[in-house]
Amino acid sequence: MHLETDVCIVGGGPAGIVLGYLLAKNGISTIVLERSNGGKREFRGEHITYETEMLLKEHQLFEKVKAKGILKMKKVEYFDDGQIVKSIEPSTEVGHVGIHIPQPHLLTAVIEESTRFPQFQLLMDTTVTKLLQDGDGSYRGVQGIRDGEEVTVSSSLVVGADGRFSTIRKLANIPTVHLSHGYDVLWAKIPAPKDWKPTTRMLLVDGHQLALFTQTGGFIQIGWNIKEGAYSSLRKKPIEPLLEPLMKNLPELRSIVKEHLQSWDDFVCLKVESSRSDTWVKDGLVIIGDAAHTMTPTGAIGINCAIKDAHVLAPIISEAIRKQNTSTKQLKVFEKDRRAEVEAQQKKQIDSEKLFKLQFAPVQLI
Ligand SMILES: Cc1cc2nc3c(=O)[nH]c(=O)nc-3n(C[C@H](O)[C@H](O)[C@H](O)COP(=O)(O)OP(=O)(O)OC[C@H]3O[C@@H](n4cnc5c(N)ncnc54)[C@H](O)[C@@H]3O)c2cc1C
Repeated sequence: MHLETDVCIVGGGPAGIVLGYLLAKNGISTIVLERSNGGKREFRGEHITYETEMLLKEHQLFEKVKAKGILKMKKVEYFDDGQIVKSIEPSTEVGHVGIHIPQPHLLTAVIEESTRFPQFQLLMDTTVTKLLQDGDGSYRGVQGIRDGEEVTVSSSLVVGADGRFSTIRKLANIPTVHLSHGYDVLWAKIPAPKDWKPTTRMLLVDGHQLALFTQTGGFIQIGWNIKEGAYSSLRKKPIEPLLEPLMKNLPELRSIVKEHLQSWDDFVCLKVESSRSDTWVKDGLVIIGDAAHTMTPTGAIGINCAIKDAHVLAPIISEAIRKQNTSTKQLKVFEKDRRAEVEAQQKKQIDSEKLFKLQFAPVQLI
């Protein structure tokens, strides 16, 4: 199969799909290639901030996503020894401390909106393996595999939105530093008790964070920060010592935890890292989202950064395509606009990981 388009986006996660929608809406012909078949995407970044809510509203996407199911978090509570030691509530203007949106709800809603534009095309089950260059070295498309068949897409611009292990970043030889943060996260999901409030709960267990995120559809996602690389040895031990502090702090979860978390197979381990790439732009190529700057789960900002990248990049690409100029010089304004903010957020993540224990210091009453 051979296709031609203005922009070829590799990766149909939050960054790639939102960018595809915005470009198609601007009249730019866009093809998104996604490796998966759109199946389960559990344990991904699913909490959006107020800023992202406003961006989705600006682009007429929020109500569409809301119709699929979202949940506004009303409070963050910090627990120590079964007691709430601190509670954060939103201002009345914002009305929440984050909104849970399952990634399938976000992606399906945005894809449905995108397909209204004839300029938009999405190929699922398509794995990109090769970048194509013209005689001057500018990137001019990709090659991939779909159902065992070769797919070639010729384009004026390639966008690598293919996540933390980005193939596009590697094929374009963009040097990237991967930072370890000394911890990994074990995720599990359990049904929420009937009267469970939409609250984010934080516990401190042996100096490590244990976080509970209330989710859309009556679930709680639980994340245990564990020592980096400790999962394989943990798996050889009983799970009870991991569960006991959770049940001690939140006894109302005891029976549900016992029923639903019975073996290590009920957990998923996320290897935590952040990354910084030397450049996000080359002639005919841009990388965005986790491909350009993987974030740690702290503050759940990965998805928010990915969507903001798409928001900032869409008008820059639209102008570049209209001018028929997809050179580094033309596109670099994207990186100039976003890099400082992203790196400041990465620094903030490191600082709050170091200071996590202090969050549990009870507020002093004067
Ligand atoms: C396993 C996992 C767990 C996570 N857990 C959390 C969490 O708990 N909290 C949090 O805040 N953040 C978490 N994140 C990060 C968060 O999900 C990301 O920051 C956010 O999804 C970034 O969006 P993105 O579009 O840049 O990348 P992604 O969401 O990773 O999307 C990239 C897409 O590219 C596709 N792709 C990859 N390679 C190719 C290829 N060669 N050809 C075609 N398609 C390709 C992938 O299938 C994927 O759909 C997690 C990420 C992962 C991978």
